[in-house]
Amino acid sequence: MSAKGDLMLAWAVDPLTRERGESGGAVTALLTFALREGIVDAVVGVKKGADIYDARPVLITDPHEVMETAGSILGGTLLLSKLFGKYLKGVKDLKIAAALKGCDVMGVYEQAKRKQLNLENVLMIGLNCGGATTPSTLRRIMSEVFEVDPNSVIKESMYKGHLQIKYDGQEKDISIPKLEDAGYGRRSNCRRCKMKIPRQADLACGQWGVREEMVGKATFVEVCSQRGAELINGALEAGIIGSMIADASCIKARKRREEATLNLADEWRKKDFAPLSSSRERLKIMIEETSRCIKCYTCVEVCPVLFNSVGPYITAFPGKVPPEFAFHLLRYAHVADSCIDCGQCEELCPMDIPNALFMHAIEADLEDLYGYHAGEDMSRPSLAIMDEPDV
Ligand code: SF4
Ligand code: SF4
Ligand code: SF4
Repeated sequence: MSAKGDLMLAWAVDPLTRERGESGGAVTALLTFALREGIVDAVVGVKKGADIYDARPVLITDPHEVMETAGSILGGTLLLSKLFGKYLKGVKDLKIAAALKGCDVMGVYEQAKRKQLNLENVLMIGLNCGGATTPSTLRRIMSEVFEVDPNSVIKESMYKGHLQIKYDGQEKDISIPKLEDAGYGRRSNCRRCKMKIPRQADLACGQWGVREEMVGKATFVEVCSQRGAELINGALEAGIIGSMIADASCIKARKRREEATLNLADEWRKKDFAPLSSSRERLKIMIEETSRCIKCYTCVEVCPVLFNSVGPYITAFPGKVPPEFAFHLLRYAHVADSCIDCGQCEELCPMDIPNALFMHAIEADLEDLYGYHAGEDMSRPSLAIMDEPDV
């Protein structure tokens, strides 16, 4: 019997799920099992759209369709957790299971503590995440770095700090630091992200720590909650997944990988925050950059902390474009201590304003001052002034 804290290697027993799923298909098999057994009403996932650069969110109620979400999409920069709050009414009347990256899981917690989402109704299969790249950057990497037609690429993945691609029956790879030094690579918020293994989910799954001969054939699973243990036990008893205990060398390799990514994130934080180090200089840069704002409200609408507050922003700042700097000051005041550095407000800003960088820099300072870590658990933000309507 598996229990909270267990570390194992797992894989799908069904050969098709093993073949189509990432790293042996354990995550796809667990999601299918949860839906088929009625543990949840629906699975929320991401499937490939028109091509490998097009990530589409889907709500699935037929267990046979879960397979459509198998495999990873590197250009998938969606924040799923925001969709739970925005389009599924905070999953207050619907039990869902989802495979979630660290920022998704953090978004779930930040919404749950604002009573915008029912945490009990989200079965979270956390995914280790080294970072995501925007679809447009990914296309440029294919053509400018690999010198390959982006439309001929059928698979991209990150493994051991390398970006690997498959196209026209051939393979190529390049180290991520080399890519990033050349100005390509992951989104800047991803480079600073330290939620690489989301242990506040029910399970934390990924390929880090899978022994060499099993790479691509098994997933390293950390059981993080009683609910996660029950899911694993049910799937094992039903013969849906196979498993073996992770040995010391696997655990050590995973730890090494995690530490390397955390160290790299620290280096990027230093690099990115350095120009914002003095408060006077920071303010100057913020005022200058945000003066391009066309007040489209996207940064409010897409934020997992703010998405329910668009109305007050419209009322508070009528008419004027660009808006007064107070528009941005209000966002900083509302979100800064709870920013999960998901990058949405920056990636989707039509004026390329580095919104996430500014917010994350303030959040990091507040974290140092007050010790509050956004998105890690249900503890309340240090500077919380929260609207808490009854659920
Ligand atoms: Fe992954 Fe973190 Fe980027 Fe989210 S912010 S996609 S968890 S690296
Ligand atoms: Fe302004 Fe960009 Fe926010 Fe739109 S997304 S309101 S342009 S900062
Ligand atoms: Fe994400 Fe931006 Fe909101 Fe921070 S402020 S949580 S980076 S959308």
